[in-house]
Amino acid sequence: MILMGPPGAGKGTQAKLLEARFRIPHVSSGEILRSAVCAKTELGLEARKYMERGELVPDGVLLGAVRDRLAAEDCRDGFVLDGFPRTVTQSKALGEMLSAAGKPLDHVVSIRVPVSEVVSRLSGRRTCRRCESPYHVAYSPPRRDAVCDKCGGELYQRSDDREETIRARLQAHERQTAPLIEAYREQGVLRDIDGSGSPQEVWARILHEVDA
Ligand code: AMP
Repeated sequence: MILMGPPGAGKGTQAKLLEARFRIPHVSSGEILRSAVCAKTELGLEARKYMERGELVPDGVLLGAVRDRLAAEDCRDGFVLDGFPRTVTQSKALGEMLSAAGKPLDHVVSIRVPVSEVVSRLSGRRTCRRCESPYHVAYSPPRRDAVCDKCGGELYQRSDDREETIRARLQAHERQTAPLIEAYREQGVLRDIDGSGSPQEVWARILHEVDA
């Protein structure tokens, strides 16, 4: 299953709920890249330059890491992709990986949110350094200031969640990823979800579509 939508649409939050409900791993390309940046691996050092500017990491840099992740044992019975694919080349590569593994693409869920709401969601977002759970300073604050409710990790503001970078990320989405959503629509696998309102409201809409 693929979750699509602009940055700040709530893909990470919904992917975690899907992971728990269907017992399949949440695979986030952003998370794979952030841990590589943190570990200062070759991938991380290369990816960092693009991430800081809010640009997409080149396909050739990222694809191997995603391929390795999807080949892992815990992905055998399926997975929820969040933030991948983001380009036509990535979606072709994913199609090839799925056919080679004999796995169907069951759902492509596109979460739609107006740009003004995305900017306010991202600029107030705080993320757990340890488990990447998302919070929002106004809409879903943690119980203890700057501490993750789930694992006790420290909450921080991602460097690409600052206003200047948010605009570049939205532009990258419009230019490179939105056309992909339309391609999945033409294939007849796309489900549009209204991403406004609380995470629980969005979750109910997704569940309704996926169960149907
Ligand atoms: P995310 O956590 O999905 O918002 O991703 C954070 C950043 O990681 C993006 O702004 C990109 O720089 C990079 N990134 C994540 N996924 C991809 C992808 N599929 N293709 C290219 N760059 C990506």
